[in-house]
Amino acid sequence: MAEPILELCGISSHYGPIRALHDVSLTIRHGEIVALIGANGAGKSTLLMTLFGNPRASEGQVWFAGEAITHLPTHHIAPLGMALVPEGRRIFPGMTVLENMDLGRISAGPRVGRDPLEGLYELFPILKERSHQKAGTLSGGEQQMLAIARALMSQPRLLLLDEPSLGLAPLMIRKIFSLIQTIVQSGTTVFLVEQNASQALQIANRGYVLVNGRIRLEGSGQALLHDPEVRQAYLGRQV
Ligand code: ATP
Repeated sequence: MAEPILELCGISSHYGPIRALHDVSLTIRHGEIVALIGANGAGKSTLLMTLFGNPRASEGQVWFAGEAITHLPTHHIAPLGMALVPEGRRIFPGMTVLENMDLGRISAGPRVGRDPLEGLYELFPILKERSHQKAGTLSGGEQQMLAIARALMSQPRLLLLDEPSLGLAPLMIRKIFSLIQTIVQSGTTVFLVEQNASQALQIANRGYVLVNGRIRLEGSGQALLHDPEVRQAYLGRQV
């Protein structure tokens, strides 16, 4: 079995008096796609933000590539090789596609050697075609591709995706999920946070279900797809 790249051990997080995560433990191994599914407000985005120390975990430990990062300053964490594509994409609409991509270099650690731009243009040919166009003129799906490509400019070891399918048409969702599989095949581990449980679990090696800030279930993507509770609560199917 591959080594863990990310481990959370007993993590709790608060917003003031509100406890958003309770004793969360999970492991992601090199080369995996791991899905985290859960309803609105379950704490999925909080879990991703806690990895970057914002909010800072109030209990527990986070390990990245064998290093304890729980108490590291936020700006020291991304350069270790972790890149987040936030919910809602947060591209800069008034800047060109290329300028947005260039911003992704800022969080790159010293490991970066070969310029990743040409490789990313091969993976996302539409971004090459549109490189001098304002990012705000791209379609929603193209903007999601740009957000992913921008994160990959830092050549992360672990890519964190927060609801990449949000607001996209079914055909574009399939395209984005297929791109995620290609990204993993090229050596980047993926942590995929999704409300779209069906599609996420289909491509995931393993998954976790978060309910009210606690891990409720874990298992292989296939096992969770067939779990009665997951089917009823997240796949809209009667058991
Ligand atoms: P969604 O899919 O709707 O984004 P989520 O699973 O990502 O949901 P979070 O955004 O992590 O959920 O929210 C978890 C809980 O923490 C919710 O009860 C939310 O209201 C609360 N919360 C999130 N951000 C803050 C904040 N900045 N201040 C106070 N409470 C917050």
